[in-house]
Amino acid sequence: MDRYDAIIIGSGFGGGGVAHQLVRAGWRVLMLERGERVERGDHNWEPDGSLDLTPFYSKETPYCVAEQIDKTASKLDKLMTRRTGATTVASCYCVGGPSVFYGAVSLRLRETDFHPDPVHGDSEADWPFGYDTLESHYCAAEALLDVAGEAGGDPTEPPRSAAYPQSPAPLSATSQMISGAADRLGLRPFRLPLAINYGAAEDRDACVGCTTCDTFACAIGAKNDVATRVLAPLLARGLELRPNTVVTRLVVDGDRVVAVEATDRQSGEPLRFEATHFVVSAGALATPHLLLASGLDQLNPGGDVVGRYLTRHCNAIAFGLFRRPVNPAREFHKQVALHDYYHGDERVASLGKLGGIQQLHSPPVGLVHQHLPPGLAHLVGALIVPRMTGLLVMAEDEPRYDNRVMLRKGAADEFGLPAAEIRHVYTERDLGARDALLVRAREVLTEAGALWCYSHYIHTFSHAAGTVRMGSDPSKSALDEYCRFRGVQNLRVVDASILPSGGGVNPSLTVAANALRVGEQLVAQS
Ligand SMILES: Cc1cc2nc3c(=O)[nH]c(=O)nc-3n(C[C@H](O)[C@H](O)[C@H](O)COP(=O)(O)OP(=O)(O)OC[C@H]3O[C@@H](n4cnc5c(N)ncnc54)[C@H](O)[C@@H]3O)c2cc1C
Ligand code: SF4
Repeated sequence: MDRYDAIIIGSGFGGGGVAHQLVRAGWRVLMLERGERVERGDHNWEPDGSLDLTPFYSKETPYCVAEQIDKTASKLDKLMTRRTGATTVASCYCVGGPSVFYGAVSLRLRETDFHPDPVHGDSEADWPFGYDTLESHYCAAEALLDVAGEAGGDPTEPPRSAAYPQSPAPLSATSQMISGAADRLGLRPFRLPLAINYGAAEDRDACVGCTTCDTFACAIGAKNDVATRVLAPLLARGLELRPNTVVTRLVVDGDRVVAVEATDRQSGEPLRFEATHFVVSAGALATPHLLLASGLDQLNPGGDVVGRYLTRHCNAIAFGLFRRPVNPAREFHKQVALHDYYHGDERVASLGKLGGIQQLHSPPVGLVHQHLPPGLAHLVGALIVPRMTGLLVMAEDEPRYDNRVMLRKGAADEFGLPAAEIRHVYTERDLGARDALLVRAREVLTEAGALWCYSHYIHTFSHAAGTVRMGSDPSKSALDEYCRFRGVQNLRVVDASILPSGGGVNPSLTVAANALRVGEQLVAQS
């Protein structure tokens, strides 16, 4: 049997970041990924190219969700939740992970995010380092993902030691409308940093500014996702990537992992791979699932926290309906954000830090058809969607001990992974923070000319984090400052599970930056 220097489980931001360091240092690395490659072409632009409607969004390993229902949801929202069966969570499995379908927003955590707000419950979240430790790795991650941004506009922006690698595209008419409305309200709109190729990279097509970006794979490869921008050059340098490989167990001998067991997703063949070092980066739901299924929590002095403190942000979208079309078929308008209420809002001071507000696209018509009854869907698709534009609110949620991924009684899945479930309840503060941001987002839309606003609550776990957190206290965290899994000599975790708290920004850039840091340390100490 081949023996590798390192095996990395999962090919998303964490896995890609670590692989970048190990492969470039000359290590022999095997990356095991349960999903398939996403082919690119005109089909990505079709309505059914949206993640939910593709085979890459799968419930083949279903996570049953207990206690998730948000009692404040509107009737329309509850109807949509019932139609999509949101009580069982699907996951995105493909080479590059959800980055292939993501919105490309690449924000750093703020300095304050490394010191959790005491108002955010008694999570005992304890970052083992501050923003300064990650700053150079944020620069490296922005370079790796070729982020386009504009420094200086974000009122909460942390210090940076390097300029953004690219400048952003000019503002579209709809973005100018939103930005102008925010200006008139005395706010400080700023440019969303995006991992999109606007032409600086010569070897790939530049972005053509379409409306099918967030939740779609880029048909021309202009989105700087992990598959396109990170893995492709590493494969040319010798990275061995095995798609369609579902890892089911880490095999331990004493205090070392000696092998991983897996199942070939297409043939069902059982597989086994050996290495000196192991890195788990399967995402914040699958990683604790795999660690618990392997019994590794038993070896860790903080093993009780494995699977706990699940955060996911408390997200919603305020949609505004306008008299005239604001959503032309080919106009990218996810460009502007507001952080004026990031650290709180005087109207609801007791809620502490709130989070961010970001522009986003109107839902693609294909998605509208999936979520609404047929007659209503045609009406909404033809008359309302072209006149809608939205603002996403992203509230930081409290890491709670009882919010968790855990094994459950029941049959294993077709690959041999034991059944798992999610328990998650938002606190009143989380919902209050989300609703306070929604009020502010609706004010901006109304100032921009919206005749009517509708709030849609987001129930997905697309920003799941925190389930194998790092920390200084071995009894309250499973990972040390270099994301070494305590109690096991040669095991690291690098995906969004590691985050002790999530801040109010999208997680991917922080996951990538930290994975680059951990990979650098792994090379240096070996
Ligand atoms: C539609 C959408 C839009 C988003 N937009 C943004 C955005 O604009 N900005 C942002 O910052 N974040 C965004 N996110 C969130 C972001 O994608 C995640 O936070 C990020 O991908 C987490 O990275 P990760 O390394 O933790 O895991 P992932 O990127 O989820 O990677 C985990 C990988 O492990 C694989 N895997 C899982 N189980 C196994 C197993 N048993 N064996 C082998 N492989 C396995 C998966 O297939 C996957 O490829 C978005 C997410 C979604 C779904
Ligand atoms: S907006 Fe640009 S990066 Fe996004 S899918 Fe369209 S072409 Fe690709």
